[in-house]
Amino acid sequence: MENIGHGGKEIVERVMPKAAAIKRVEELKAAKVKTLDVRLQMATEVIDIAYGFFSPLEGFMTKADVESVCDNMLLADGKTVWSIPIVFDISEEELKKSGIKQYDEVLLTYTGNPFAVFDITDIYTLDKKEVAMKVYGTTEDKHPGVKRTYQYQDKFLGGKITLLNPPKINEPFTRFWLTPKQMRERFKEKGWEMIINHQTRNVPHTGHEWLMKGAYLGAYGSMMVDKPRGGILVNAIIGSKRPGDYIDEAIILCQEAQGKHGYFREDIFLTTCSLWDMRYAGPREAVFHACLRTNLGCTHHMFGRDHAGVGSYYDPYDAHRIFNKLPKGSLNITPIFNLDWWFCPVCDEVTYMGFCGHKDKKASFSGTLIRSIIQDGVKPPRRIFRPEVFDMIMECAKKYGFGDAFVTEDYLKRRNPVFTIEPLK
Ligand SMILES: [Zn+2]
Repeated sequence: MENIGHGGKEIVERVMPKAAAIKRVEELKAAKVKTLDVRLQMATEVIDIAYGFFSPLEGFMTKADVESVCDNMLLADGKTVWSIPIVFDISEEELKKSGIKQYDEVLLTYTGNPFAVFDITDIYTLDKKEVAMKVYGTTEDKHPGVKRTYQYQDKFLGGKITLLNPPKINEPFTRFWLTPKQMRERFKEKGWEMIINHQTRNVPHTGHEWLMKGAYLGAYGSMMVDKPRGGILVNAIIGSKRPGDYIDEAIILCQEAQGKHGYFREDIFLTTCSLWDMRYAGPREAVFHACLRTNLGCTHHMFGRDHAGVGSYYDPYDAHRIFNKLPKGSLNITPIFNLDWWFCPVCDEVTYMGFCGHKDKKASFSGTLIRSIIQDGVKPPRRIFRPEVFDMIMECAKKYGFGDAFVTEDYLKRRNPVFTIEPLK
Protein backbone atom coordinates (compact mmCIF):
# COMPACT_ATOMS: atom_id res chain seq x y z
CA MET A 1 0.00 0.00 0.00
CA GLU A 2 2.90 2.37 0.59
CA ASN A 3 3.17 3.52 -3.03
CA ILE A 4 -0.43 4.56 -3.47
CA GLY A 5 -0.64 8.09 -4.74
CA HIS A 6 -3.30 10.64 -5.59
CA GLY A 7 -6.51 9.14 -6.91
CA GLY A 8 -5.89 5.93 -4.97
CA LYS A 9 -3.67 4.48 -7.67
CA GLU A 10 -0.12 3.10 -7.63
CA ILE A 11 2.46 5.85 -8.18
CA VAL A 12 3.21 6.18 -11.89
CA GLU A 13 6.77 5.44 -12.92
CA ARG A 14 7.42 5.54 -16.62
CA VAL A 15 11.19 5.42 -16.82
CA MET A 16 12.90 2.92 -19.10
CA PRO A 17 16.03 1.18 -17.78
CA LYS A 18 19.19 2.44 -19.45
CA ALA A 19 20.12 -0.55 -21.65
CA ALA A 20 16.55 -0.85 -22.93
CA ALA A 21 16.41 2.91 -23.53
CA ILE A 22 19.59 2.90 -25.62
CA LYS A 23 18.17 0.08 -27.72
CA ARG A 24 14.84 1.87 -28.02
CA VAL A 25 16.47 5.07 -29.28
CA GLU A 26 18.32 3.07 -31.94
CA GLU A 27 15.08 1.45 -33.04
CA LEU A 28 13.27 4.77 -33.15
CA LYS A 29 16.05 6.32 -35.19
CA ALA A 30 16.12 3.35 -37.57
CA ALA A 31 12.35 3.66 -38.00
CA LYS A 32 12.90 7.39 -38.72
CA VAL A 33 10.25 8.48 -36.22
CA LYS A 34 9.61 12.18 -35.87
CA THR A 35 11.63 14.14 -33.37
CA LEU A 36 10.67 17.20 -31.35
CA ASP A 37 13.12 19.19 -29.28
CA VAL A 38 11.32 20.48 -26.18
CA ARG A 39 11.88 23.66 -24.21
CA LEU A 40 12.62 23.76 -20.48
CA GLN A 41 8.94 24.19 -19.49
CA MET A 42 7.96 20.96 -21.23
CA ALA A 43 11.09 19.06 -20.19
CA THR A 44 10.28 19.82 -16.55
CA GLU A 45 6.81 18.37 -16.90
CA VAL A 46 8.01 15.30 -18.78
CA ILE A 47 10.22 14.55 -15.77
CA ASP A 48 7.35 15.19 -13.34
CA ILE A 49 5.03 12.85 -15.24
CA ALA A 50 7.63 10.10 -15.66
CA TYR A 51 8.46 9.88 -11.94
CA GLY A 52 4.89 10.13 -10.72
CA PHE A 53 4.91 13.64 -9.25
CA PHE A 54 1.70 14.07 -11.29
CA SER A 55 0.22 10.61 -10.59
CA PRO A 56 -2.16 9.33 -11.84
CA LEU A 57 -1.27 11.26 -15.03
CA GLU A 58 0.79 9.11 -17.39
CA GLY A 59 1.24 11.76 -20.02
CA PHE A 60 0.11 15.13 -21.30
CA MET A 61 -3.60 15.73 -21.14
CA THR A 62 -6.03 15.06 -23.96
CA LYS A 63 -8.71 17.60 -24.78
CA ALA A 64 -11.27 15.62 -22.76
CA ASP A 65 -9.05 15.87 -19.67
CA VAL A 66 -8.38 19.59 -20.09
CA GLU A 67 -12.08 20.36 -20.51
CA SER A 68 -13.06 18.27 -17.53
CA VAL A 69 -10.32 19.86 -15.40
CA CYS A 70 -11.45 23.35 -16.41
CA ASP A 71 -15.16 22.70 -15.93
CA ASN A 72 -15.31 20.30 -13.01
CA MET A 73 -11.83 20.18 -11.48
CA LEU A 74 -11.81 16.47 -12.29
CA LEU A 75 -9.97 14.35 -14.83
CA ALA A 76 -12.03 12.92 -17.69
CA ASP A 77 -12.64 9.79 -15.58
CA GLY A 78 -15.15 11.97 -13.73
CA LYS A 79 -13.82 11.13 -10.28
CA THR A 80 -10.15 12.07 -9.86
CA VAL A 81 -9.70 15.64 -8.61
CA TRP A 82 -7.29 17.67 -10.76
CA SER A 83 -7.17 21.44 -10.91
CA ILE A 84 -4.56 22.60 -13.43
CA PRO A 85 -4.23 21.52 -17.10
CA ILE A 86 -0.93 19.80 -17.92
CA VAL A 87 -0.52 20.35 -21.65
CA PHE A 88 2.03 20.00 -24.42
CA ASP A 89 1.83 22.77 -27.01
CA ILE A 90 3.16 22.99 -30.55
CA SER A 91 2.83 25.63 -33.25
CA GLU A 92 0.62 24.99 -36.25
CA GLU A 93 3.68 25.47 -38.42
CA GLU A 94 5.85 22.98 -36.55
CA LEU A 95 3.04 20.47 -36.48
CA LYS A 96 2.67 20.74 -40.25
CA LYS A 97 6.42 20.67 -40.85
CA SER A 98 6.95 17.62 -38.63
CA GLY A 99 4.00 15.79 -40.18
CA ILE A 100 3.01 14.42 -36.76
CA LYS A 101 -0.33 12.59 -36.80
CA GLN A 102 -2.57 10.99 -34.24
CA TYR A 103 -1.16 7.65 -32.97
CA ASP A 104 2.39 8.59 -33.97
CA GLU A 105 5.25 7.77 -31.69
CA VAL A 106 7.52 10.79 -31.35
CA LEU A 107 11.04 10.97 -29.94
CA LEU A 108 11.40 13.97 -27.66
CA THR A 109 14.83 15.49 -27.26
CA TYR A 110 16.03 18.15 -24.84
CA THR A 111 19.08 20.28 -25.63
CA GLY A 112 19.51 17.90 -28.57
CA ASN A 113 19.82 14.70 -26.51
CA PRO A 114 17.28 11.84 -26.60
CA PHE A 115 14.90 12.32 -23.72
CA ALA A 116 11.50 10.61 -23.93
CA VAL A 117 8.99 8.85 -26.14
CA PHE A 118 5.63 10.53 -26.64
CA ASP A 119 2.69 8.39 -27.83
CA ILE A 120 0.37 10.92 -29.41
CA THR A 121 -3.29 10.02 -28.98
CA ASP A 122 -4.87 13.43 -29.39
CA ILE A 123 -4.15 16.58 -31.40
CA TYR A 124 -6.37 19.51 -30.49
CA THR A 125 -6.91 23.22 -30.02
CA LEU A 126 -8.12 25.11 -26.95
CA ASP A 127 -9.89 28.36 -26.31
CA LYS A 128 -7.12 29.88 -24.22
CA LYS A 129 -9.27 32.69 -22.90
CA GLU A 130 -11.81 30.22 -21.63
CA VAL A 131 -9.10 28.08 -20.02
CA ALA A 132 -7.66 31.19 -18.34
CA MET A 133 -11.04 32.25 -16.99
CA LYS A 134 -11.87 28.82 -15.62
CA VAL A 135 -8.48 28.04 -14.08
CA TYR A 136 -7.33 31.49 -12.95
CA GLY A 137 -10.63 33.33 -12.62
CA THR A 138 -9.38 36.14 -14.84
CA THR A 139 -8.38 36.76 -18.45
CA GLU A 140 -5.88 39.52 -17.63
CA ASP A 141 -2.43 38.70 -18.94
CA LYS A 142 -0.90 40.55 -15.98
CA HIS A 143 -1.62 37.33 -14.10
CA PRO A 144 1.47 35.13 -14.67
CA GLY A 145 -0.57 31.93 -15.06
CA VAL A 146 -2.81 33.59 -17.64
CA LYS A 147 0.24 34.94 -19.40
CA ARG A 148 1.70 31.44 -19.59
CA THR A 149 -1.61 30.15 -20.99
CA TYR A 150 -1.65 32.84 -23.71
CA GLN A 151 1.97 32.09 -24.57
CA TYR A 152 1.19 28.48 -25.44
CA GLN A 153 1.28 27.73 -29.15
CA ASP A 154 -2.01 27.06 -30.92
CA LYS A 155 -2.05 23.26 -31.09
CA PHE A 156 -1.81 20.72 -28.30
CA LEU A 157 -0.65 17.10 -28.21
CA GLY A 158 -2.01 14.62 -25.69
CA GLY A 159 -0.74 11.15 -24.86
CA LYS A 160 1.50 9.04 -22.65
CA ILE A 161 5.18 9.68 -22.24
CA THR A 162 8.04 7.37 -21.26
CA LEU A 163 11.33 8.78 -20.05
CA LEU A 164 14.39 7.34 -21.77
CA ASN A 165 17.09 9.48 -20.27
CA PRO A 166 16.89 10.54 -16.60
CA PRO A 167 17.90 14.10 -15.76
CA LYS A 168 21.18 14.93 -14.11
CA ILE A 169 20.25 17.21 -11.23
CA ASN A 170 22.97 19.79 -10.79
CA GLU A 171 24.50 21.26 -7.65
CA PRO A 172 23.41 22.43 -5.18
CA PHE A 173 20.08 20.67 -5.86
CA THR A 174 21.37 17.10 -6.26
CA ARG A 175 20.73 15.92 -2.72
CA PHE A 176 17.37 17.69 -2.47
CA TRP A 177 15.58 16.22 -5.47
CA LEU A 178 13.88 12.94 -4.59
CA THR A 179 11.35 11.11 -6.74
CA PRO A 180 8.05 10.20 -5.06
CA LYS A 181 9.27 6.63 -4.55
CA GLN A 182 12.61 7.79 -3.11
CA MET A 183 10.79 10.25 -0.89
CA ARG A 184 8.63 7.47 0.53
CA GLU A 185 11.70 5.34 1.19
CA ARG A 186 13.26 8.22 3.07
CA PHE A 187 10.16 8.60 5.24
CA LYS A 188 10.29 4.90 6.01
CA GLU A 189 13.94 5.14 7.06
CA LYS A 190 13.03 8.01 9.33
CA GLY A 191 10.13 6.06 10.79
CA TRP A 192 7.70 8.85 9.94
CA GLU A 193 4.05 7.94 9.75
CA MET A 194 2.77 11.49 9.77
CA ILE A 195 4.36 13.82 7.25
CA ILE A 196 3.42 17.48 7.20
CA ASN A 197 4.31 19.26 3.99
CA HIS A 198 5.40 22.87 3.93
CA GLN A 199 5.20 24.33 0.44
CA THR A 200 7.67 27.14 -0.12
CA ARG A 201 9.38 29.43 -2.56
CA ASN A 202 10.85 31.59 0.19
CA VAL A 203 13.90 31.76 2.37
CA PRO A 204 12.57 31.20 5.88
CA HIS A 205 12.22 33.99 8.42
CA THR A 206 10.97 33.20 11.90
CA GLY A 207 7.37 33.71 10.78
CA HIS A 208 7.75 30.68 8.49
CA GLU A 209 9.52 28.77 11.22
CA TRP A 210 6.61 29.25 13.59
CA LEU A 211 4.11 28.44 10.87
CA MET A 212 5.75 25.03 10.58
CA LYS A 213 6.05 24.55 14.33
CA GLY A 214 2.41 25.46 14.81
CA ALA A 215 1.31 23.05 12.08
CA TYR A 216 3.43 20.27 13.57
CA LEU A 217 1.88 20.69 17.01
CA GLY A 218 -1.58 21.06 15.55
CA ALA A 219 -1.34 17.90 13.49
CA TYR A 220 0.87 15.80 15.69
CA GLY A 221 -0.01 16.69 19.22
CA SER A 222 2.45 15.09 21.58
CA MET A 223 6.11 14.73 20.74
CA MET A 224 7.70 11.33 21.19
CA VAL A 225 11.14 12.15 22.54
CA ASP A 226 12.96 8.95 21.57
CA LYS A 227 11.52 8.24 18.20
CA PRO A 228 9.22 10.84 16.69
CA ARG A 229 6.74 9.18 14.38
CA GLY A 230 6.27 12.24 12.28
CA GLY A 231 8.10 15.12 10.68
CA ILE A 232 7.99 18.22 8.55
CA LEU A 233 8.83 17.98 4.88
CA VAL A 234 9.88 21.29 3.39
CA ASN A 235 9.27 20.82 -0.32
CA ALA A 236 10.56 23.84 -2.20
CA ILE A 237 9.14 24.57 -5.62
CA ILE A 238 11.99 25.00 -8.08
CA GLY A 239 11.01 26.24 -11.52
CA SER A 240 10.57 29.25 -13.75
CA LYS A 241 11.44 32.45 -11.95
CA ARG A 242 10.32 36.03 -12.14
CA PRO A 243 12.66 38.93 -11.41
CA GLY A 244 12.39 39.70 -7.70
CA ASP A 245 11.78 36.07 -6.62
CA TYR A 246 14.35 34.52 -4.31
CA ILE A 247 17.02 32.61 -6.19
CA ASP A 248 16.42 28.84 -6.04
CA GLU A 249 19.77 28.10 -4.41
CA ALA A 250 19.05 30.44 -1.48
CA ILE A 251 15.58 28.95 -0.94
CA ILE A 252 16.75 25.38 -0.65
CA LEU A 253 19.97 25.97 1.30
CA CYS A 254 18.35 28.37 3.77
CA GLN A 255 15.50 25.97 4.42
CA GLU A 256 18.03 23.23 5.10
CA ALA A 257 19.96 25.54 7.42
CA GLN A 258 17.04 25.59 9.87
CA GLY A 259 17.53 21.88 10.48
CA LYS A 260 21.33 21.97 10.35
CA HIS A 261 21.46 24.59 13.07
CA GLY A 262 18.91 23.01 15.35
CA TYR A 263 15.88 25.27 14.94
CA PHE A 264 14.23 22.00 14.08
CA ARG A 265 15.57 18.70 15.36
CA GLU A 266 17.01 16.92 12.36
CA ASP A 267 15.00 13.79 13.11
CA ILE A 268 11.76 15.67 12.50
CA PHE A 269 12.86 17.80 9.56
CA LEU A 270 13.67 17.18 5.89
CA THR A 271 14.27 19.65 3.06
CA THR A 272 13.64 18.60 -0.53
CA CYS A 273 12.62 20.19 -3.81
CA SER A 274 10.24 19.44 -6.65
CA LEU A 275 10.31 20.85 -10.17
CA TRP A 276 7.24 22.91 -10.99
CA ASP A 277 6.59 26.24 -12.66
CA MET A 278 4.31 28.14 -10.31
CA ARG A 279 1.05 29.13 -11.99
CA TYR A 280 -0.10 31.38 -9.10
CA ALA A 281 -3.57 29.92 -9.47
CA GLY A 282 -4.41 30.53 -5.79
CA PRO A 283 -7.14 28.09 -4.69
CA ARG A 284 -6.77 25.80 -7.72
CA GLU A 285 -3.04 25.71 -7.22
CA ALA A 286 -3.57 24.82 -3.55
CA VAL A 287 -5.52 21.77 -4.71
CA PHE A 288 -2.75 20.91 -7.16
CA HIS A 289 -0.16 21.18 -4.36
CA ALA A 290 -2.27 18.80 -2.26
CA CYS A 291 -2.24 16.22 -5.10
CA LEU A 292 1.50 16.65 -5.67
CA ARG A 293 2.30 16.13 -1.98
CA THR A 294 -0.02 13.15 -1.75
CA ASN A 295 2.19 11.62 -4.41
CA LEU A 296 5.27 12.43 -2.34
CA GLY A 297 3.76 10.41 0.50
CA CYS A 298 2.70 13.27 2.77
CA THR A 299 -0.26 12.90 5.11
CA HIS A 300 -0.79 16.62 5.84
CA HIS A 301 -0.33 19.83 3.88
CA MET A 302 -0.06 23.35 5.26
CA PHE A 303 -1.94 26.18 3.60
CA GLY A 304 -1.20 29.68 4.80
CA ARG A 305 -2.49 33.09 3.92
CA ASP A 306 -2.83 33.71 0.16
CA HIS A 307 -1.40 30.32 -0.74
CA ALA A 308 -0.03 30.39 -4.31
CA GLY A 309 -1.80 33.67 -4.96
CA VAL A 310 -0.57 36.71 -6.82
CA GLY A 311 -1.55 40.37 -6.67
CA SER A 312 -5.11 40.72 -5.43
CA TYR A 313 -6.69 38.12 -7.70
CA TYR A 314 -7.82 35.89 -4.82
CA ASP A 315 -9.15 36.46 -1.35
CA PRO A 316 -6.28 35.51 1.02
CA TYR A 317 -8.31 32.59 2.40
CA ASP A 318 -9.93 31.32 -0.85
CA ALA A 319 -7.22 28.65 -0.90
CA HIS A 320 -8.61 27.37 2.43
CA ARG A 321 -12.26 27.51 1.43
CA ILE A 322 -11.83 25.52 -1.79
CA PHE A 323 -11.15 22.34 0.20
CA ASN A 324 -14.65 22.46 1.64
CA LYS A 325 -16.07 22.40 -1.86
CA LEU A 326 -14.31 19.19 -2.93
CA PRO A 327 -16.25 15.92 -2.72
CA LYS A 328 -15.57 14.16 0.60
CA GLY A 329 -12.80 11.58 0.36
CA SER A 330 -11.50 12.89 -2.97
CA LEU A 331 -8.13 13.83 -1.47
CA ASN A 332 -5.91 11.53 0.49
CA ILE A 333 -4.16 14.27 2.44
CA THR A 334 -5.35 16.43 5.32
CA PRO A 335 -5.11 20.19 4.84
CA ILE A 336 -3.84 22.25 7.78
CA PHE A 337 -5.02 25.82 7.54
CA ASN A 338 -2.75 28.48 9.03
CA LEU A 339 -3.72 32.03 9.80
CA ASP A 340 -1.04 34.75 10.13
CA TRP A 341 2.01 34.69 12.36
CA TRP A 342 3.52 38.05 13.24
CA PHE A 343 5.93 39.70 15.63
CA CYS A 344 4.17 41.44 18.53
CA PRO A 345 6.21 43.97 20.51
CA VAL A 346 3.80 43.71 23.46
CA CYS A 347 3.90 39.91 23.68
CA ASP A 348 7.59 40.36 22.79
CA GLU A 349 7.56 37.29 20.57
CA VAL A 350 6.55 35.83 17.27
CA THR A 351 2.89 35.07 17.79
CA TYR A 352 -0.25 33.91 16.05
CA MET A 353 -3.28 35.77 14.82
CA GLY A 354 -5.33 33.26 16.78
CA PHE A 355 -3.60 34.19 20.10
CA CYS A 356 -2.39 37.76 20.11
CA GLY A 357 -4.79 40.49 21.19
CA HIS A 358 -2.58 43.39 20.06
CA LYS A 359 -3.42 43.28 16.39
CA ASP A 360 -3.01 47.06 16.07
CA LYS A 361 0.59 46.85 17.35
CA LYS A 362 1.72 43.85 15.29
CA ALA A 363 4.77 43.94 13.05
CA SER A 364 3.93 41.76 10.06
CA PHE A 365 6.57 39.89 8.16
CA SER A 366 5.76 41.84 5.04
CA GLY A 367 7.61 41.00 1.86
CA THR A 368 8.78 44.61 1.57
CA LEU A 369 10.22 44.63 5.11
CA ILE A 370 12.04 41.31 4.63
CA ARG A 371 13.32 42.38 1.24
CA SER A 372 14.77 45.63 2.61
CA ILE A 373 16.44 43.71 5.46
CA ILE A 374 18.12 41.40 2.95
CA GLN A 375 19.09 44.18 0.59
CA ASP A 376 20.70 46.13 3.43
CA GLY A 377 22.71 43.03 4.28
CA VAL A 378 22.90 44.09 7.95
CA LYS A 379 22.21 41.18 10.24
CA PRO A 380 18.64 41.60 11.56
CA PRO A 381 17.52 40.64 15.09
CA ARG A 382 17.51 36.86 15.53
CA ARG A 383 13.82 37.01 16.30
CA ILE A 384 13.23 37.97 12.66
CA PHE A 385 15.93 35.94 10.91
CA ARG A 386 18.00 33.17 12.42
CA PRO A 387 21.64 34.33 12.04
CA GLU A 388 22.73 31.12 10.30
CA VAL A 389 19.86 31.45 7.84
CA PHE A 390 20.74 35.06 7.19
CA ASP A 391 24.43 34.21 6.67
CA MET A 392 23.36 31.55 4.18
CA ILE A 393 21.27 34.08 2.22
CA MET A 394 24.33 36.31 1.93
CA GLU A 395 26.55 33.38 0.95
CA CYS A 396 24.10 32.26 -1.73
CA ALA A 397 23.79 35.78 -3.11
CA LYS A 398 27.55 35.85 -3.53
CA LYS A 399 28.01 32.29 -4.77
CA TYR A 400 24.96 31.82 -6.99
CA GLY A 401 23.15 35.13 -7.43
CA PHE A 402 25.92 37.30 -8.90
CA GLY A 403 25.68 39.44 -5.76
CA ASP A 404 21.92 39.35 -5.36
CA ALA A 405 19.64 37.10 -3.29
CA PHE A 406 16.80 37.93 -5.66
CA VAL A 407 16.37 36.91 -9.27
CA THR A 408 17.77 39.39 -11.77
CA GLU A 409 17.96 39.28 -15.56
CA ASP A 410 21.63 38.55 -15.13
CA TYR A 411 20.89 35.52 -12.94
CA LEU A 412 18.35 34.21 -15.44
CA LYS A 413 20.93 34.42 -18.20
CA ARG A 414 23.97 33.10 -16.37
CA ARG A 415 22.73 30.66 -13.73
CA ASN A 416 23.69 27.01 -13.79
CA PRO A 417 20.66 24.99 -14.94
CA VAL A 418 18.87 22.96 -12.25
CA PHE A 419 19.02 19.87 -14.44
CA THR A 420 20.62 18.76 -17.68
CA ILE A 421 19.94 15.92 -20.09
CA GLU A 422 23.23 14.39 -21.13
CA PRO A 423 23.95 12.21 -24.18
CA LEU A 424 22.45 8.74 -23.71
CA LYS A 425 25.23 6.15 -23.64
ZN1 LIG B 1 0.58 40.50 21.26
